[in-house]
Amino acid sequence: MSRPGLLIVLSGPSGTGKGTICKCLLEKNPELELSVSKTTRPPRKGEEDGVNYCFVAVEEFKEAIANQDFLEYACVYDHYYGTPRQAVEKKLAAGKNVILEIDPQGAQKVMRAYPDGVFIFLLPPSGAELRKRITCRGTESEESLTKRLAAASQEVMQASKYNYVVVNDEIASASERILSIIQAEQLRVKRNQDLIWQLAEEVKE
Ligand code: 5GP
Repeated sequence: MSRPGLLIVLSGPSGTGKGTICKCLLEKNPELELSVSKTTRPPRKGEEDGVNYCFVAVEEFKEAIANQDFLEYACVYDHYYGTPRQAVEKKLAAGKNVILEIDPQGAQKVMRAYPDGVFIFLLPPSGAELRKRITCRGTESEESLTKRLAAASQEVMQASKYNYVVVNDEIASASERILSIIQAEQLRVKRNQDLIWQLAEEVKE
């Protein structure tokens, strides 16, 4: 039986570049799997259904909540977002490392359900840079922009609940640091007990 994969949670305020970092991580390590969330948010220009998100109606989302189909879900900036449980559990059982790019409310639920997960918080290089990134992205309405800026400061405070913080000063190097975290986590003794026992037996034979 293969070892279960790592459940990796990546959070950070809107505009820290989580999406770009995830893309870069998958390019650098094609064995990583990204969990595709369901959301009731309308698609942005260029977003593809089933790739960036599965875009669903509120009724469908609520039905999925009732059926306990989500590993976690949260309401973020007036829209629902949730992680499909079955898809993630199947990948983990197959030994795949799965990344969840989710908000801190959802991450806290995962922390309780999966204490063995790896929780990484992505920080912007500075407050001014974050404001610039959110404002210049040009994908948000005025109202959504105000909400995201107000939430960002609160969200940064959530970083202390995570296992690691990574400053996204430059995409390639921040991604490399995350890959190093994943590599180190895979080498932790608690994840390699089977290997230790097996070797101890082999030495005895
Ligand atoms: P956006 O609308 O910018 O794509 O995402 C808004 C926020 O929702 C981001 O902080 C993103 O990480 C979070 N998010 C995306 N998918 C999920 C999910 O499945 N669950 C939770 N809790 N948050 C999510």
